[in-house]
Amino acid sequence: MGSEGNSDEMIFKGIAASPGVAHGPAFVLFQKELEIPSFQLGAEAISEEIARFERALLQTRQEISGIREAIAEKLSEEEAQIFDAHQLVLEDKALIDEVIHEVEETSFNIEHCFHEISNRYIDAFANIGDPYIKERATDIRDVSRRVLQNLLGQSDYNVGHLTEEKIIVTEDLSPSSAALLEPGKVMGLVMDAGSRTSHAVIMARSIEIPAVAGLHNITQYIHSDDDILVDGHDGIVIINPSEQSLFRYGRIQINRRNLQEIFRSEAGLPADTVDGEHLILMSNIEGFEEIGNLQRCGCEGVGLYRTEGLFMKGPAFPDEEEQFTAYSRIVSGLAPNPVTIRTLDLGGDKNPHSSLYNVREENPFMGFRAIRFSLENTEVFLTQLRAILRASCHGNVRIMYPMISGLGELVEANGLLEQAKRDLQERGQEFDENIAIGSMIEVPSAATIADLLTQHCDFFSIGTNDLIQYLLAVDRVNDRIAHLYEPSHPAVVRVLKHIVSCARKANIPVSVCGEMAGDPVYAALLFGLGVDELSMIPSDVPEVKYLVRKMRMADTRKMAENILRQHDPDAIFDLVNQYYEETVGKQLRSGAEVD
Ligand code: PEP
Ligand code: MG
Repeated sequence: MGSEGNSDEMIFKGIAASPGVAHGPAFVLFQKELEIPSFQLGAEAISEEIARFERALLQTRQEISGIREAIAEKLSEEEAQIFDAHQLVLEDKALIDEVIHEVEETSFNIEHCFHEISNRYIDAFANIGDPYIKERATDIRDVSRRVLQNLLGQSDYNVGHLTEEKIIVTEDLSPSSAALLEPGKVMGLVMDAGSRTSHAVIMARSIEIPAVAGLHNITQYIHSDDDILVDGHDGIVIINPSEQSLFRYGRIQINRRNLQEIFRSEAGLPADTVDGEHLILMSNIEGFEEIGNLQRCGCEGVGLYRTEGLFMKGPAFPDEEEQFTAYSRIVSGLAPNPVTIRTLDLGGDKNPHSSLYNVREENPFMGFRAIRFSLENTEVFLTQLRAILRASCHGNVRIMYPMISGLGELVEANGLLEQAKRDLQERGQEFDENIAIGSMIEVPSAATIADLLTQHCDFFSIGTNDLIQYLLAVDRVNDRIAHLYEPSHPAVVRVLKHIVSCARKANIPVSVCGEMAGDPVYAALLFGLGVDELSMIPSDVPEVKYLVRKMRMADTRKMAENILRQHDPDAIFDLVNQYYEETVGKQLRSGAEVD
C-alpha cells in the first residue's frame, strides 16, 4: 500500500473515513497481542532484571493514577474507581513475589516470567463463576498489559492519556477507547483496520477529527513522533511530508474552511427544497456532550441516540436512575424536538467490560447482538425501557429497537415495553402513554417482511450500515473487502424502495440513520426514493441542508426512478454523483477555491 514520494516522503492510500486535514507528530498505539521475548540471563544480570521490573511497576502506578485523575475530572468519581482496582493489582504482594522468585529460580527474563504468572492468575480468576471475581481477571489482564508495555518500552494503549496534541496511529481502536478521543488532544486518527462505518470512525467523524482507516499495515512504517499528514477527504497519509505537500494541503484546508463557512451560513435556515417541500434532517448522537453541536448544526432533533456508551463505561451496567438521568438531560435539553432513543445495541464491534456481557464469538456482527441480547436479559431490557419511559415526560421521546430480524422479536419487545409501563403505573410514575415505537430495519429479513412489521410499530428507521453489510455479505469493519461495501449496489436501492413502499402503504414514516444518510452524494437519492427523514452525525447536517435547499424534489424522484432501472453499482454512483455535482458540487468548488 505504501509508495515513495520524494526521498523522505512516503504516501499511503486508505479509506477516507472522516474529512479534514491534520499535520503533526504521530502517537503509535498498539492494541494487538504483545510479542513477549523469552530468553535466559546470566547470574550477574538477575538483580538488574528485578530492578527493571520495579521501575516498570512504578511507572505503571504513576500512569494509572494519572488516568484515574483525568477520568474523575472528565466523567465521575464512580467511573474513576475502576482504576483503584487496577492499583490493587500492582500492589498484590503475592503476585509480585512470585514473579521475582520465578526470575531468580529460572533465570528467564522478566517479561517472560511476568507474562507466565499473570496469565496463571488471569485464568484462575476467569474460571470462577462469581461475576465479581471474574471481573478481577479483566483488571489483571489490563494492568499486566500496561506493565509489559512499560517493560518493552512501548506506548501506553490508552488514548485518554495523551497530554499534547498528536495524531493517533493504531492497528484498530475499540469503541470504548474511541470514546476517550478528545478533539483538543487528538488531531487525527490513522488505522490499519476499519472502514467508514466502524464505530471508532463514526466517533472520529462526530467529534470532527480527520481520519483515514483501512491502511492494512501502516503501523509498521510509522514511529511515535514521526511527522505525518492525514488527509481525511481522500484517504491519504503522508509520512515526512515534503514542503510541496504541506503547501498543497495548506490550500486544501483553506478551501475546506471556506466550504464550511458557506454551509454554516445556511445552517439556521429551513430544510426546504426549491419546489417548496420541507424535509426533515435529524442528528445521530452518542451522549449529552453533543447537544451543543446539535443546536449549532440546524437539525430538528435526534433520529438516533446510541445508548451503548452508557453501558460500556465501567464494570457494571448503569441502573435505572443513572439511565433516567442521562436520557432526561438530553430529552429536556432538546424539547420540544424529538429524541429517538435506541435500546441497547451491544455486540458487533461494541463490547462492554461488564461480566453481564461475557461473549466471545466467531462472528460477532451476526451473533448475540442488540435486541437478541435484550430479549434474553429481560431485567437489563426492562430497566432500560422504564428509564426511557420516565424520561418521556420531560420532552418528546421516541423509542426504537435495533436489529429486529422477525415479527416475533418486535412483538416480544413490545410486550416487554407494556410490562415496563405497568411497572411504572404500579409505582405511580408518569410517562408518555402515546410514546412512538420504531423498528430499525437493518437486517435483510426485516426488510423483506417490512409490510408485516408495519402492523406493530409507528415508524421505521433504516440502519444502512448494517443493512448493507448483511445484504451484500460484506463485513462493515473488514478493510480487506471495503471496496465491496457499495451503497450504490442495485440490491441496496431496490431494498430501500421496498421498505419505503411498505411504510407508505401503512402510512408510517421512514427515516434513514446509517452513514449513507449523511453522505451528500446519496442524500438526494434517499429523499427521491420517498424517505421522510435523514439522521446523521451533527457535523454532516449543514452540508446536507445546503444541498436540500438547492434540490428540486421532482428531479430527485425522477433520478430515483432512473436509478431503479440500473444494473450496475458504478452506473448508479455516476448518476447520484452527477446530480450532486450539477446541483451544488461545481458551484461550491468555484466558490471555495483559493488561487
Ligand atoms: C446502522 O446499522 O446503520 C446503524 C445506524 O446502527 P449502528 O451503526 O449503531 O450499528
Ligand atoms: Mg446497526
